[in-house]
Amino acid sequence: MGHKRVRPGERIAMVELMMEMNSDWCLFWPFAHADHMARRVCEAANGPKPSSDYECCHSCNNNLCINKNHLRWGTKKDNAGDRKKKRNHLTVTIKFK
Ligand SMILES: [Zn+2]
Repeated sequence: MGHKRVRPGERIAMVELMMEMNSDWCLFWPFAHADHMARRVCEAANGPKPSSDYECCHSCNNNLCINKNHLRWGTKKDNAGDRKKKRNHLTVTIKFK
C-alpha cells in the first residue's frame, strides 16, 4: 500500500470516528502528520490545550497512536514521566466514499 494523500475533510472525518471509538488498543494513523492528528483528537476529547506549556501526551508511548483514550494534555515533565507501557495496536485504515 503506497502513501495515500489525505484531504482535509478526511482528517475531520477521522477525528469524528476516533470520538466514537472506545478501544484499549492503539489506533495508528498511518499517514503523514500523526502528531498533528493526535493533537486534533486530543483537543476533541479533552478540550483545548490548557496553555503553551502543555503538549499532547500518549499514555501508550506510541507516537502514531490517535486513540482518544490514550491522549491527554500534559506538561513536558508529565510526558517524560509517562509509564512506557507497550500495547497492542491496530493500524487505522480509511475507506471514504
Ligand atoms: Zn495508544
